Amino acid sequence: MIKTLLWDVDGTLLDFGKAEEYGIRKCFEIFSLGECTDEMLSRYSLINKKYWEMLERGELTKPQVLRGRFEEFFKTECIGFDKIDDFNLEYQYRLGDKVFFCDNALETVQSLKGKVRQYAVTNGTFVAQSRKLSQSGLDKIFDDVFISDKIGFEKPSVDFFNAVEEKIGKFNSRETMIIGDSLTSDIRGGNNANILCCWYNPKGDKPKTSLKIDYEITNISQVIDIIE
Ligand SMILES: [Mg+2]
Repeated sequence: MIKTLLWDVDGTLLDFGKAEEYGIRKCFEIFSLGECTDEMLSRYSLINKKYWEMLERGELTKPQVLRGRFEEFFKTECIGFDKIDDFNLEYQYRLGDKVFFCDNALETVQSLKGKVRQYAVTNGTFVAQSRKLSQSGLDKIFDDVFISDKIGFEKPSVDFFNAVEEKIGKFNSRETMIIGDSLTSDIRGGNNANILCCWYNPKGDKPKTSLKIDYEITNISQVIDIIE
């Protein structure tokens, strides 16, 4: 019986793509950089994903990721702009301006409140994540939130999960489940922590992986079926 849920936030409960789109466009406006087209946004999105994966593999530090992704993006777009750190700070803040939920996410965590223990386990910066969690009201629904920036380790590192265990008590491998959209951070992290793993795969991707995936879902509401 599953009693504890560890929820990823971006791309699982909140629509990260929409927040990213809004945040970048807002910053283009603030720094008078002209229009940021859909094509530019999709190129940025790929660059950003690549940098976070390098962080997960331990190839870059967090500050290198935050700066490097924008440096590469502006270079790719031939935009001569050097206030990268200011842009990044503004962007972190703007990411939490508006809340975009994934389908059925809010209803699902609300309906599970009081039935199981629920925690947010999220990578990302403290400014962006804490603002998103409070703006969305998720911080009131969850029993606690764990942000990698504060912990000092990122998912999928086992150190991240050890820090969570220290706070909420030892995981029971059959009673604790992580739910997330990322194989490289959430599912690998769940494997490292030896807990149940539920992969949220809304697009029905079919990647080759040797990771242990206990459940695969395309809609967040299916978590309720798994628990019942
Ligand atoms: Mg995610």
